Amino acid sequence: MPASRAYAAQSATSPLAPHTINRREPTPTDVDIEILYCGICHSDLHQVRNEWKNTVYPCVPGHEIVGRVTRVGSAVKNFKPGDLAAVGCLVDSCRECPECREGLEQYCQAGPVFTYNAPDKHTGGKDHTYGGYSDRIVVDEKFTLRVPENLDPAAAAPLLCAGITTYSPLRHWKVGKGSRVGIVGLGGLGHMALKLSHAMGAHTVLFTTSPGKIEDAKRLGADEVILSRDEGAMAAQAASFDFILNTVAAPHNLDVFLNMLKRDGTMCLVGAPEHPHPSPNVFNLLMRRRSLAGSLIGGLRETQEMLDFCGEHNIVSDIELIPIQKVNEAYERLLRSDVKYRFVIDMASLKE
Ligand code: NAP
Ligand code: ZN
Ligand code: ZN
Repeated sequence: MPASRAYAAQSATSPLAPHTINRREPTPTDVDIEILYCGICHSDLHQVRNEWKNTVYPCVPGHEIVGRVTRVGSAVKNFKPGDLAAVGCLVDSCRECPECREGLEQYCQAGPVFTYNAPDKHTGGKDHTYGGYSDRIVVDEKFTLRVPENLDPAAAAPLLCAGITTYSPLRHWKVGKGSRVGIVGLGGLGHMALKLSHAMGAHTVLFTTSPGKIEDAKRLGADEVILSRDEGAMAAQAASFDFILNTVAAPHNLDVFLNMLKRDGTMCLVGAPEHPHPSPNVFNLLMRRRSLAGSLIGGLRETQEMLDFCGEHNIVSDIELIPIQKVNEAYERLLRSDVKYRFVIDMASLKE
């Protein structure tokens, strides 16, 4: 098997450092992709540091991948060498359960195969999957996506996780013209949620803990911006939202947000912090039949739909392009909410 260059963490406390991995020879249905860009998701940091208590090492993170097809297997129909291609959070699933048949592979009953840190059936489960902080990836064409040609490929990379993770719940809860939508947290997910909710026609309100992000939030599509630590401003929003999408990566008081939902409103959590949130007050839920929900990334069909939607509306991520040698520094900045608004690794730097 050909060796591939990558950056890996060897333990929960070691920094990411150069490492060599094996990628399989393409099967007849596989696409071999030279990775050009890979976004840095806060999930990469949670996983590298074993905050979800399930990391296997060495861990090569990265699930916001855009690259160029270099080879295709003999049965591949939709990709050819030279095409721009993308890979998100999933590289396989059982393909037979009701969820897979419905195109909801992220909820596969057998467990979806995540792009990194999942048992790799191609090695008989002896090895695990390795993500996009690497020079190449080999993926079944069913799990390979098309990037609209009008989008900048580096800035499109974060659509593969931050984009679909926010697009999917906005669609599921039917956000559109006439909805009043709250987005909590202006990071990688939050800034995509703002752009998408705005493009779907909703009145979009951003909640942030960072006063320095107010002007950016307006530029990114917020109709209103509220500082979530301003108790008076928060209380004034009571019972006024149809839907709230909460992207915060740390435990916090959910009641202040639940209290803002109208009757039958929903707050959907997509942030996945290391430690649980304090339990919400049940009266806040039952007095107005409110719902607290969660959502995981999106299926393949919806991810392509999201990419095409972004192509039509010219939506990409606001990125800071970094060489891979700066990845550990970028993680520290992510923890300080110091990113505008997604780091993307320029994979050409891996050759240096
Ligand atoms: P990120 O770029 O670090 O953004 C998180 C934002 O949360 C920050 O920018 C900050 O926004 C806010 N925040 C951070 N600490 C906070 C605190 N203590 N109190 C209140 N707000 C705080 O992270 P991301 O990449 O967008 O990911 C966000 C979360 O979603 C992570 O937990 C990640 O693992 C998870 N995730 C889930 C899925 C899924 O499928 N459900 C997919 C991808 C990622 P302000 O400065 O505006 O307050
Ligand atoms: Zn992610
Ligand atoms: Zn399945």
